[in-house]
Amino acid sequence: MSEKKPLASMSLDLDNQWSYMKTHADSGWESFPSYLDVLVPRVLEFLEKRGLKITFFIVGQDAALEKNYAALRSIADAGHEIGCHSFNHEPWLHLYSEQQVEQEITLAEEHIERVTGKKPIGFRGPGYSFSSTVLRVLDRHGYQYDASTLPTFIGPLARAYYFMTTKLTPEEKENRKQLYGELRDGFQPLRPYRWQLDGGSDGLIEIPVTTMPVFKIPFHVSYILYMSRFSPFLARFYFRFALEMCKLTNTPPSLLLHPLDFLGCDDLKELSFFPAMDLPGEKKIELVGEVISTYTNQFTVVPLRKQAHALANENKMSTLVPRLRSLGGNAP
Ligand SMILES: [Zn+2]
Repeated sequence: MSEKKPLASMSLDLDNQWSYMKTHADSGWESFPSYLDVLVPRVLEFLEKRGLKITFFIVGQDAALEKNYAALRSIADAGHEIGCHSFNHEPWLHLYSEQQVEQEITLAEEHIERVTGKKPIGFRGPGYSFSSTVLRVLDRHGYQYDASTLPTFIGPLARAYYFMTTKLTPEEKENRKQLYGELRDGFQPLRPYRWQLDGGSDGLIEIPVTTMPVFKIPFHVSYILYMSRFSPFLARFYFRFALEMCKLTNTPPSLLLHPLDFLGCDDLKELSFFPAMDLPGEKKIELVGEVISTYTNQFTVVPLRKQAHALANENKMSTLVPRLRSLGGNAP
C-alpha cells in the first residue's frame, strides 16, 4: 500500500455559455452571456474539499469582460494553474493563417494575464483543434505544453451528430467541416511526446486528452455522466476499466472536466440540447465526485504544468513531426 501512486493530471476547459451557443449557432451569443459567477465558486469549493489543484483553460474573451474578472481572479488566487483556451473559442482555429493565430494567442494572453496575474504556459485549442501553425506560434510565445489533441476515431461520428442536430448556413458548415477532428486522429499517440517543429525549439510537449488505450474512445467525465443516465453500473465499470488500461499500457492519464459537469437543468435552461443536461446540478456534482474519487484513489493528480515538468525530467519522451491537418491555411 505504501507504493507511490503514478502521476496523472486533470484540467477544466472553462467554456462559457456563449461559446456553446456560438458553436451551436444560436443567436444571442454575441452579448457573451456568462455563468462563471455561478460555476467558478462551485468548482473551486469542489476541488478545495478534495485538496486538488488542477489546470483551468481560460478563454481570452471572458477575461476581456469586467463581469468575469472576479470569478477568473479567484481561480488563480486559489492556486490553480491558468492555461490558455484561445481568445474567440472558434473550433476552426486550425483554419486560421499564421497571422490570425498570432493575434488570437497574443490577445488571449494579454487579457488572461492582466486579470489573473499569471502568464499561461499551456494551451488547449477549442474543440481539440490544432495545427502546425498553432504549435509554431505557441513555441514562439514560450509555451511549455499543448494539450489539444484527442486521439480518437469517433470525431467524424460526433460531427455527423452535431450537423444533424444543428441548423447551420452553408458558410457555418464550411467553417465547421473539420470540427471534432478526422478519422486519422485516432492514430495520434496517447502518451505525451515532444513536437519536432521546423525551426522551433523542440521543447513543446504534447499532453493528449487521454482516451482509452487500445480502443481510443473518450472517457472524460462528461461521457461518464452521459453513460450513467443509462446505467450507473456500466459507467462506473467503463471508467475503472479505462484507468486500468492506462496503468497496463503505462499511459499517464490526463482527465478532462467541463463546466456542464457541474451545472444542471436547474442552472441553465438555455443549454438543454446538451447531453446529460436533464440532471439537476446537485446530482451531477455527486456523480462527478464519485468519478474523481476513483481517479484520485489510483493516481496522484496534479495540474498539467506539473505533469509536463515531470515528463520533461524523465527525458524519455518520443518526438513527433506535426503533419498538416488540413490544406486550408487560409483565412476562413
Ligand atoms: Zn472549449
